Amino acid sequence: MNEIHVAASAPVGTVTGNRGLIVEEPLIFEQGTDTGSGVDLPEPFDVPDRLGDFRRTGPIGLPGLAEPQVVRHYTRLSQKNYSIDAGFYPLGSCTMKYNPRLNEKIARTPGLGDLHPFQPVSTAQGALAVIHTLAGWLMELTGMAGVAMSPAAGAHGELCGVMAIRAAQEAKGNPRKVILVPESAHGTNPATAALCGYSVVAIPATAEGRVDIAALKAKLNDDVAGIMLTNPNTCGLFERDVREIAELVHGAGAFFYMDGANFNAIIGRVKVADLGVDAMHINLHKTFSTPHGGGGPGAGPTVFSEALAKFAPLPFVKKSGETFELVETRAQAGADAQPFGRMKGFHGQFGVMLRALSYAMALGKDGLKQASGDAVLNANYILARLKDTLSAPFEGPCMHEALFDDGFLKDTGVTTLDMAKALIDEGYHPMTMYFPLVVHGALLIEPTETESKQTLDLFIETMQALAAKAKSGDSEFFHAAPRLTPRRRLDETLAARKPVLRWSQKAD
Ligand SMILES: *Cc1c(COP(=O)(O)O)cnc(C)c1O
Repeated sequence: MNEIHVAASAPVGTVTGNRGLIVEEPLIFEQGTDTGSGVDLPEPFDVPDRLGDFRRTGPIGLPGLAEPQVVRHYTRLSQKNYSIDAGFYPLGSCTMKYNPRLNEKIARTPGLGDLHPFQPVSTAQGALAVIHTLAGWLMELTGMAGVAMSPAAGAHGELCGVMAIRAAQEAKGNPRKVILVPESAHGTNPATAALCGYSVVAIPATAEGRVDIAALKAKLNDDVAGIMLTNPNTCGLFERDVREIAELVHGAGAFFYMDGANFNAIIGRVKVADLGVDAMHINLHKTFSTPHGGGGPGAGPTVFSEALAKFAPLPFVKKSGETFELVETRAQAGADAQPFGRMKGFHGQFGVMLRALSYAMALGKDGLKQASGDAVLNANYILARLKDTLSAPFEGPCMHEALFDDGFLKDTGVTTLDMAKALIDEGYHPMTMYFPLVVHGALLIEPTETESKQTLDLFIETMQALAAKAKSGDSEFFHAAPRLTPRRRLDETLAARKPVLRWSQKAD
């Protein structure tokens, strides 16, 4: 096995093209051989051949490698990734907060981590107790009447909520045609509405970054099934008129879906039920400090009002006396229930639920309230210290995230994208860029409550130094960034359309 690949032209001056521990290496499929193996398997018993035509005739196509080759390959790959354990991750709206080690310890408890969803319910009482207890916390924290625990992510929770809205409208005789979505909504909101067969009608934002109530009134009619409102919205602002919005929507016979991905800004302070909300998903992987990013599992439990709770999907956990029961069919759900179906084969992302419950119980209700306070305080600290260096489109204070536009880069030849690329060289994951669309060249920064003042100060000073460099006319510095990453700046369109994934295709 040839593990060292001498680069045709080694731009960094090493013979391998490696830079210390940043190793240039082929895909594992290109490294492996048909005969290599990390395990010794015993000779098969002399069994009669019952497979007949199903027997494989060609090679299996899996890369054969020894265990250390596999371990090194994946360890190196993991170290090329930015992660919340490696550094500050100011990605707006995504709430990349630190995942406490305690959560991980709890999730690895053998009796819980090794369960199988087909196990008899009598042997999984503890797991059902976890799901039931977390459901209770989510209902208590939001004041809502019901919750579906099975959605696997925020967008999946939105789907669950809008499917319940559709079921409720159908039960009234007409599913209706339109979902209203404010301009400041997260992109998943219109996508969800469209996936459920609704047409999306946008509601413009006011000059101060909130829903335009007059425009909303003009769009409400008998065709409208509901509204999807992100609150706090993606400008990092609380929709102050949320109660009036709920009343207007209900007055038109429509339902109010609140995108609760940013629940971390209000947890312990606002009872969502008091706002007139009918359905809201909660991103456990944001608010409740469970891992996410890189396509990892999250969870998007969806809470429901009295009006929608009976349409919630199966399955759910019910407590009878000291026993936890799994309600899996319409018949078991009872005469009043009209579940619209299921969101997943089993019960949802159980490992994520365990971590979330661990976080909730470790902090307690008062600790969760402090977490939202600290999240908002940290964002306002960033806003206050950077608003004169960068440019802030809206009057503060903000909620959990600080929004800037690219006004400060005017005539510098440096763009929001260039700033982000330069930040990578400084050891930071970039902030959210060019979103929300309601401001020009947006830079959206969410520090979360888990960052120390030292971390925030260093980040602020980095941003100030970069802004000063941009204003000094050194645009070359930015256009050449990133310099220190495994790959330099890519042609983003080409990289998305025609990704070069194989070592053998690599152009030096
Ligand atoms: C993250 C986010 C979502 C989507 O959540 P996923 O878990 O990524 O599917 C929806 N809305 C808002 C406001 C978000 O920040």
